[in-house]
Order: sequence, then structure tokens, then C-alpha cells
Amino acid sequence: MPMFNYPFRSKLPEVPTSIFAVMSALANQHNAINLSQGFPNFNSDPKLIALVNKAMVSGHNQYAPMPGIFSLREAIAKKMENLYGVSYNPETEITITAGATQAIFTVLAATIKKNDEVLIFKPAYDCYEPTIELFGGKTIAVQLDPEDFTINWAAVKALITDKTKMIIINTPHNPSGNVLSREDMLQLEALLKDTNILLLSDEVYEHIIFDGEKHQTAALYPALAERAFITASFGKTFHNTGWKTGYCMAPAEMMKEFRKVHQFNVFSVNHPIQVALAEYIKTPENYLELGPFYQKKRDLFLSCMKASRFEFKPSKGTYFQLMSFKNITDESDFDFAVRLTKEKKVASIPISVFNEQHYDTKVLRFCFAKTDESLRKAAEILCTI
Ligand code: PMP
Ligand code: GLN
Repeated sequence: MPMFNYPFRSKLPEVPTSIFAVMSALANQHNAINLSQGFPNFNSDPKLIALVNKAMVSGHNQYAPMPGIFSLREAIAKKMENLYGVSYNPETEITITAGATQAIFTVLAATIKKNDEVLIFKPAYDCYEPTIELFGGKTIAVQLDPEDFTINWAAVKALITDKTKMIIINTPHNPSGNVLSREDMLQLEALLKDTNILLLSDEVYEHIIFDGEKHQTAALYPALAERAFITASFGKTFHNTGWKTGYCMAPAEMMKEFRKVHQFNVFSVNHPIQVALAEYIKTPENYLELGPFYQKKRDLFLSCMKASRFEFKPSKGTYFQLMSFKNITDESDFDFAVRLTKEKKVASIPISVFNEQHYDTKVLRFCFAKTDESLRKAAEILCTI
């Protein structure tokens, strides 16, 4: 289709197609085991699917209320109270979103103005930077330690200026699988106290945390909670990334601004799914079992990978495992990931795409939200390389 004769100037000239779309398409094209894009290759609980069906049959098929149905917001508030002893008002401080991506987009749209600086940690999830740019903001990247993905807080402090509008954190962290400690949160709290800097805390992997570690939500730290938009995703928690349902929590004044944008962005979110989730989330086991469930998968994958030439430290959270291939080849991580997909039929994500200036540390990300059979088969292949 030829375009009309007008000099169309891209708002995001540097932005390519997301690596997740690229690698999943390549995996499908080559019939590879897809450990690239983060989604489970098994179904969510039949009870939850039955609840969605029931909600549709009983007529919850028109627009939901703009902030989300009250019973779901109330159930989220109860979960926050029970797990962390913190209180969010379901009326004014919680909004249901079309996944965490929309929540993050809406937070940035509601807050970022031209020349505002936003600090993010690299490797960073791919949606932060383009969205900051779209609203005229400037990304200030802080590279995490390449070995253990910890934060150098002194380096962060040195980057704060009077233009700093927001810091974005993500714990448990995609792609590294690292988690922020209580000490990290206290450092961040000390840094932000007495400033006007906002916090966006991306906590989509809240329940996928291993080895007895406790999730450090920003909600637990008063000087963080008072300035934090917290984003979450039901897709990660209940094995249905395709339903694109999540939520955002923030103090009422901030949530008011969020909703001003939300109402013109999606207006409201899939109604029958909200009705089903409101019922399902009332049983705490449905999310509390998630950590042990994925820990078993991580351990299975890693025990099968022991015999390989890849090097790794067990992921502490998320359903991702990083693997260094520096003993195998000096190809770029992208070339190696493509070759593994085409020739060996195992797809992964090259993590340079999340790094500052695409810094290549010879590391691939493998998603272990897969059936035991897929994990065994993939590991068997990877052990032959
Ligand atoms: N943040 C992080 C760190 C993610 O890994 C993802 C996606 N998997 C999202 C946000 C987006 O979540 P959703 O699929 O609910 O939009
Ligand atoms: N969050 C998922 C991942 O990291 C992918 C989501 C997406 O494809 N946009 O793999």
C-alpha cells in the first residue's frame, strides 16, 4: 500500500520490533522449543477458566466500571493487607488495567513531561524506555553489576539532578532473576526521602520468588509507598498472559491522575475476566503456591543443565534463568540465539537488547515457565552444544 506523499517523522525512530515478537516468530517458523518469550506453555487452572465462562454466561459482557470492578479491587486490597500489612483503599487507590504494560504506559503518560529525566536500571524490561521517550522524557540508564545484577546506590545518587522525575525499579527482575533486598529498599528510601521524585515499582513477578526470599514491595516502605505507582500482572500469577489483565496501586492523589489517562487509554478492562479473578484471588493458595511451583521447574531445568557448557547462578525470582555461553562461542548473543533456534531448535532471548548500548555479556535468557517435558527436551539439546 503506497503512503500519501507526506514526510512522516517517526516518534520512535530507533525502536525495532520487540525481541519477544522476533524470537517467538523465529521459534514458530523453525519449530523450536520456545524458551524465549515469557509465557507458560501450559493452561491455567480449569477452575479459573470455568469462572470466566460462568461470568460470561451470567451476563458480565458489557463495559466494566472505569477503575475495574469493585470486588476485584477489594480482593487486591485484602491481599495487600494480608501479605504485607499495608492498606490501599480499593475505591481510590487501585485500578484494574489491561496488563502491566498498559499500567506502565499510563503511569508514564500521566506523569512524564518534556525533558523530565527517568532513571532506569539496565538490563531493563523493554517497554520502559520507548514509553518515556514518547512523552518527551529522557532515560538515564544505570547499568547493573554485570556479574550479580546488584545496584550501586552511590552511582544512582550521583545521577540524580533537579530534572529527575522518576525512578523505575523492577523486583523480581526481568531478565536477571535477581531480587532487591530490604537493604536495597532502605537505600532507595534514604535517597528519595525529602525529594519530589516519583517511583514506579514494577512488581509483576511478586509471587515468583524462591529459596525463602521475601518479596520487597515498595508498599512496605513508607517513604517509597507515598510516591509509588506499583504495577502488577495477573498474567504472570495465574498462567494466562494472553488475558492481558493487571493492576496499578498508588496513593489517591496520584491514582486520580492515573485514571484521567486510563479512561482515555482503554477506558475499562475485560469484564468477565475481572469477575472470575475476583472470585479466584480470594483463595490465597492460588498465588502462594506459585513460588514453590516455579522453584521446582527452575531446579529441574538447572539439574538437567548441569552437564552443559553453559554457566549459571540459580535465578532468585521470575521464571527466567540467565546462562552464560562465554565458554562455548564468541558469536554475539543475538547471532548465537538465532543459530540455536534455527539449528538446534531451542529459542532464547539475547540479553544485550536490554542493555545500555546493547552491551553483549554473552548471556542468554531462558524461560522455564514450560512443561517438565519441554524443559527436559530443551536441556538435553543444550547439553550437546
Ligand atoms: N514488566 C515486566 C518486568 C515484565 O516481564 C512484563 C511481561 N511479561 C510486563 C511488565 C508486562 O506484563 P503484562 O503482560 O501484564 O502486560
Ligand atoms: N514479559 C515477557 C518477557 O519478558 C514478554 C512480554 C511481551 O512479549 N511483550 O518475555
